[in-house]
Amino acid sequence: YSGKSEANLFTQQIKNVKVSDIMSVPSIVSEETPVYEAIVTLFLEDVGTIFVVSKGSLVGVVSRKDFLKSAIGGIDINKVPVGMIMTRKPNIITVMGDENALHAAVKIIEHEVDSLPVVEKTMVEDKEHLKVVGKVSKSNITKLFVELCKD
Ligand code: ADP
Repeated sequence: YSGKSEANLFTQQIKNVKVSDIMSVPSIVSEETPVYEAIVTLFLEDVGTIFVVSKGSLVGVVSRKDFLKSAIGGIDINKVPVGMIMTRKPNIITVMGDENALHAAVKIIEHEVDSLPVVEKTMVEDKEHLKVVGKVSKSNITKLFVELCKD
């Protein structure tokens, strides 16, 4: 193998891997959840990002920095709901299970985020409904990188 064809093989392998093959179980809370409870969830589930849903549909994302910002801002974390501090739709970067892993990695880098909700899109009464089915993070991509280097 020349270096070039090995690199091509590596690229080919990454492109053959689907997001659904590497995604993990998402941490989800409803938008009424108090910030305090969401922080507890963050620790208990050992994650950096939580997806926020309303009536089963993705409405936002809340991460470590959002919690730190809210703490600095001096809000009452027992009263304020997570919906008040989250990054909300339509500014959410998502990915679908059948997209390839490289595409997810590119989105993570380009948008400078740690993780993406994996969603199923459906239209309900002319409104886009996003069902969260997984999560793909920098950790999933790093694990894939290590796996591909083992072969
Ligand atoms: P951390 O806060 O742990 O550094 P991120 O770098 O992922 O994590 O988050 C930085 C900001 O980007 C936060 O305000 C967060 O709400 C937002 N964010 C995180 N993931 C996404 C995403 N998939 N789409 C849009 N915004 C996101």
